[in-house]
Amino acid sequence: MLNRLVDYFISLVKIDSESKNELAMAERMCDDLLKMGAEVIFDEAHKKTGGNVGNLIARFSGKIDKEPLFLCAHLDTVKPGKNIRPIIKDGKIFSDGTTILGSDDKAGIVEIIEAIRRLQEQDFAFAPIEVVLTISEEIGLLGAKNLDYSLIKSKIGFALDSHRIGSVITHAPSLNIFEINITGKEAHSGACPERGISAIRIAAEAISNLKLGRIDAETTANIGKISGGVANNIIPKNLFLSGEVRSHNEDKLKNRTQKIVKEFEKTAAKYKIKIGTKTYQSNIQSQIDKDFPALKIDKDEEIVKIALKAAENIGVEPTTEIGGGGSDANIFYENGLHIAIIGTGMKDVHSLQENIQIEDMENATRWIMEIIKEYTKK
Ligand SMILES: [Zn+2]
Repeated sequence: MLNRLVDYFISLVKIDSESKNELAMAERMCDDLLKMGAEVIFDEAHKKTGGNVGNLIARFSGKIDKEPLFLCAHLDTVKPGKNIRPIIKDGKIFSDGTTILGSDDKAGIVEIIEAIRRLQEQDFAFAPIEVVLTISEEIGLLGAKNLDYSLIKSKIGFALDSHRIGSVITHAPSLNIFEINITGKEAHSGACPERGISAIRIAAEAISNLKLGRIDAETTANIGKISGGVANNIIPKNLFLSGEVRSHNEDKLKNRTQKIVKEFEKTAAKYKIKIGTKTYQSNIQSQIDKDFPALKIDKDEEIVKIALKAAENIGVEPTTEIGGGGSDANIFYENGLHIAIIGTGMKDVHSLQENIQIEDMENATRWIMEIIKEYTKK
């Protein structure tokens, strides 16, 4: 069974499935899930996201009458994710170093499928299961944001999209994205610098007054992109920058984002020049978008207890964690589903060094089996 698990993983990572191009991967999963006796449907999320296939929803009817358990992973990978050539070395699987491996999130998919296969082979009478394989998670949780929630029958479950086996992520921050355009005034830098207002200078001054990085235990802020200026001999008129604020606390998220935008407004307001009778005032235009809401699952909730008990059953240390990233689970939470994030064993994801230990995949599979058993019992 260990060989089957590894072979399956190898065969899936060889299927290209960069975000928006999940069709081949979705077709393969549809075939495999149908063969296992599931009912498989696709929604039409791709019509809104611009991808080539929708989210896949597979239902195993189960042998007892109960609300289904939600098990989720994402079909897409980050780039470079084409022609992945997996290599097994010292009990670990790597790519050949020219691409990512795609264990994020194919390890999750393989572990869900293998766990269900083994339970079927054991003739275990499990509760109904809803397997949801989302598209375009890596480019802004687009599959989850556009999922047809009318097709989902479960209310609690797990997204397999983290690292350590036994660890249950119950909290994740919400995220705001801000974009700022600074407008100054252009002028020749040698002939008449007095007639210019440098947008770069305004940005530099505002940024130097901002607190970035970790703000407090719940909140972080970052400016991630900046561009502007045309030539060395022109005082730069325009500058664009964008960044993000994350917080587990909605008030802090809102206040911190506004504080950043206000700092740019305040700084720009100081810069004006008069040429003849005309006054030139620098200004900013800003936009704040909420990218995803926070995930908040109570430690006492059934779903957390199930995962911790299941981890204990297989002899790994059960822990709960507060995550710093966003995932499909944040969007599910906004839509009334309580989905905790659990580890698959994937390591160094989003890099050419991405790898996974075979033993971890096996343990994650056993964990999922125990989770299904515990859920069935409750
Ligand atoms: Zn992932």
